[in-house]
Amino acid sequence: MSNFDPNRFVLEHDQDTPKEILRAAYQAFGELTVSFSGAEDVVLIDLALKVAPKEAVQVFALDTGRLHPETYAFIERVREHYAIEIDVRSPDADAVQAMVREKGLFSFYRDGHQECCGIRKVAPLRKRLTGLPVWVTGQRRDQSPGTRSSLQIAEHDTAFGSEASPLYKINPLTHWSSEDVWTYIRMFDVPYNPLHERGFVSIGCEPCTRPILPHQHEREGRWWWEDQGGKECGLHSTNLGR
Ligand code: SF4
Repeated sequence: MSNFDPNRFVLEHDQDTPKEILRAAYQAFGELTVSFSGAEDVVLIDLALKVAPKEAVQVFALDTGRLHPETYAFIERVREHYAIEIDVRSPDADAVQAMVREKGLFSFYRDGHQECCGIRKVAPLRKRLTGLPVWVTGQRRDQSPGTRSSLQIAEHDTAFGSEASPLYKINPLTHWSSEDVWTYIRMFDVPYNPLHERGFVSIGCEPCTRPILPHQHEREGRWWWEDQGGKECGLHSTNLGR
């Protein structure tokens, strides 16, 4: 939908609830493709299925090959709970093998996470998003003070779209806090990843995620050996330019 205006959408829907934002996005595009990370953004799936017919809701997840066993089990549980297909995407095997052969299985601890995330997450995501008009993410402003504080409910995704095939990103949870998400999960009995019961808040790959202590920011549980300010894996790289 090339005439979608994200600024206008923000003006008209910024004060709406996530459900209303998703409904408006569905009305604008006629489809919703939800990016599901295996963490608490399962709320998006729950909401999307309330505002759009099942056949109009596509759900995908990126299997980096390094997720916790609990996350794989959780993705399967969500698939069964909602009786939906989840398009689980794998990275390019040759690219992973070449990186691991040259640098080992834990190069991100030495070189930073960008190369590994680039191969295991960003490239498969780019492939999945090619040709799509819109995708829905679970990003929230409170997730990362360094990179998400000026997040908008609708954005032109210049990182994965192109001039010939513009892509827009809908972030219905922009104004929600972690507490809001968990209130919703409890209120509507939404399935959640059992790792949350063990102190994990922001959940990514097993070697790059750890539980946090009370009063630590959730992003401190991700790539903790790196600078605190710029923690993005590349899925939302436009955040780094804000
Ligand atoms: S989060 Fe860690 S293991 Fe996962 S893709 Fe990024 S660097 Fe690799």
